Amino acid sequence: MAAGALLLAGCWIAYTQNQGRQAPALTLNKIKPDLYEIEGDGGNVAMYVTGEGVILVDDKFEQDYENIMAKVKSVTGQPVKYVLSTHHHSDHSGGNVKFLPTAEIISTANARANIVEHKQPGAPADMAPARVVFTEECSVFLGGKEVRAHYYGRGHTNGDAVIYFPALRTIHTGDLMAGKTPLIDYAGGGSLKEWTKTLDGALELDFDTVIPGHGPVTDKAGLTAYRNNIEKLRNRAAGLIQEGKSQEEVGKVMAAEFGWGPNSMQAQWSLPGMMQELR
Ligand SMILES: [Zn+2]
Repeated sequence: MAAGALLLAGCWIAYTQNQGRQAPALTLNKIKPDLYEIEGDGGNVAMYVTGEGVILVDDKFEQDYENIMAKVKSVTGQPVKYVLSTHHHSDHSGGNVKFLPTAEIISTANARANIVEHKQPGAPADMAPARVVFTEECSVFLGGKEVRAHYYGRGHTNGDAVIYFPALRTIHTGDLMAGKTPLIDYAGGGSLKEWTKTLDGALELDFDTVIPGHGPVTDKAGLTAYRNNIEKLRNRAAGLIQEGKSQEEVGKVMAAEFGWGPNSMQAQWSLPGMMQELR
């Protein structure tokens, strides 16, 4: 579990360390017919190829643009027409600034506001928000194929979209599933209380394959297990907080049982907010 937390933490803060460095190599995995995953440096990107253009889910950091485009061109000559954005963090939306001149970017209204209002501490100053937003549901129809974006409520942030490929029975969760343990971004409107309800909305969709925000591709049972671990974590933390335990004491239990080590993003970003939310 500690490894999962560190993986996620590493991804989120990587851009500060990577600036000026050569962008890391990416790998391309075929998931379903015409659906690929681009993995490495930042959040997992989904790539859906149609006869009228390519639809991406997320675009990693700004520095990954050339490598993402090289992966797209290794599969198709079609241009990227749409980027469906799962949330405002720079490891998922940092490439927006490079894609916006030639593609339409779509996100939740809250994810756009979080970029406009600079809600992610330390994010690059040139983060570019989506030009098209939605609040509940939005579909893109291209080349006879459909991709649907849903907003089910708060979790990792207050603007996480779940992206659904109905014909392929596949979803991309953004960071509503990422690594082994949840990272609640309270500054970005996240909520541990709401998170399981939000995932319950996604779990009602008809799917068998899950592309998480970070980590390996999994299935519906994998997402259900992730959801149940969040419930366990929340109940454990709430019990301790209601017993009057201090942040330090709660932090020690979270580290031992859920991988929230002292250097994890969770210890830094989620623990103080969680003490408030579960009081
Ligand atoms: Zn994130």
